[in-house]
Amino acid sequence: MSDFYGHVIDGEETGSLDGRRMPSVDPWTREPWAEVALGGAEDAARAVTAARRAFDEGPWPRMGFAERGRILHRLADLVEEHRAELGLADTRDMGKPVTQSGNDVLRAAANLRFFADHARLSTGQALPMDSGHHAYTRYEPAGVAAAIAPWNFPLMLESWKIAPALAWGNTVVLKPAEDTPVSATLLARLALEAGLPPGVLNVVHGYGPDSAGQALTEDPRVDRVTFTGESATGRAITRAAAANLTPVSLELGGKGANLVFADADLDNAVHWSAEAIFRNAGQVCLAGSRLYVERAVYGEFLDRFVKKAESLRTGDPKDSATELGPLASETHYAKVRSYVEDAPGTMLTGGLGDGWSIRPTVLADVDPSARHWREEIFGPVVVVQPFDTEAEAVAAANATRYGLNAMLFTENVNRAHRVAAALRAGTVWLNCFFVRDLRAPFGGVGDSGIGREGGDFSREFFTEPKAVVMQISGT
Ligand code: NAD
Repeated sequence: MSDFYGHVIDGEETGSLDGRRMPSVDPWTREPWAEVALGGAEDAARAVTAARRAFDEGPWPRMGFAERGRILHRLADLVEEHRAELGLADTRDMGKPVTQSGNDVLRAAANLRFFADHARLSTGQALPMDSGHHAYTRYEPAGVAAAIAPWNFPLMLESWKIAPALAWGNTVVLKPAEDTPVSATLLARLALEAGLPPGVLNVVHGYGPDSAGQALTEDPRVDRVTFTGESATGRAITRAAAANLTPVSLELGGKGANLVFADADLDNAVHWSAEAIFRNAGQVCLAGSRLYVERAVYGEFLDRFVKKAESLRTGDPKDSATELGPLASETHYAKVRSYVEDAPGTMLTGGLGDGWSIRPTVLADVDPSARHWREEIFGPVVVVQPFDTEAEAVAAANATRYGLNAMLFTENVNRAHRVAAALRAGTVWLNCFFVRDLRAPFGGVGDSGIGREGGDFSREFFTEPKAVVMQISGT
């Protein structure tokens, strides 16, 4: 066991009021590697008090966009300078290969830079009225934002929430996932170094239900709750926030469909289909976990896809050659293992690995009613099925209560756009996967969430748009 990582409240790193701590377990060694403050409702309340004061009385919401932006860019610089340390923290907390966690750190810095610039360059509306008045819009910060994050892209997803909230002048209380707490404390330390005033970015550690997470969602002094995590948790958070009419933004689970048509560039389709389900060991909300392949190329595609799955290097996530690490925790491993152990149909490749690892697993001939088609497994497990017509493929893809994203591979430009329009999903990737423009809406339909994040969509959530109407005398 090594260092201690505290809450960061009002510019100070601190333990919990009752002194409780929790270990963070490295899923590769299966040993605790760090100790972290275990916060409860009182610690969450302290953090909200600090954020409230910083918002109501402090300089942050009153600064110009350029000055806030300079501080956020400085933080991005520091994040890039500390890339190795931040990446390793996520790797040790949840087993993500260092190459991938290093890229996540760069994306976190990019989020900070993007939203700093987006807020500064953002414009409102000026509305000349026939009646001799004119109206214009102002985007004013909403207040205190509670950000509750999952463990699968710890630093990256935290920055995706923090960056727009801060850029628009809000103050933040971040509760990272209990399995991945360390990089959040490191980020808050860097934020102080970058010049964020005390209380602007607070971090409180702890669990969700009956713990720090739930307390944040119930606190009437919180003005926004932004959450990424499981759909069931999203429901609980919505219920809690409803008591105070606190607006929520929910980025929830997924069961992404991936359609490969016979006219696809098969090399490209195999490459991205493997990335879509095996990157981060399938612990990705956007995972392409339902794979539909047109019958004419079904056999050839599967041969190549299975070879690709078998070629991926599993092992120690600290090794830069590793492509798949262990699953994030013992609890999560037990969940994914149950889907592998009772796998229906034909297992073309895969199965249990060492420790808490699952090998890239491909299941064919699985009855459509099986839970493997319906439930988010959140591991490197894909179910695959042939289709005969475009209509059949679209109907199968849409037969889910989730609707976060879908992918399709075809060289037919008309089909590409026709199918993209017919798919019920927040994002559709054509002949690619995971590529993001931070201005684009990101979010899901159905059980995949409420609201969108990114560019103007984040602005809508983290601000109170105001209309000002003025009479112009003499007109
Ligand atoms: P989770 O819902 O178990 O936990 C997420 C966070 O919520 C944690 O910080 C947890 O402590 C907290 N929490 C749990 N119960 C709470 C409660 N009652 N009140 C307040 N906070 C509570 O999710 P997870 O297992 O950490 O993450 C995996 C899930 O996240 C998957 O379903 C995945 O699809 C989803 N996800 C979605 C996106 C997206 O953008 N749509 C991105 C990444 C992950």
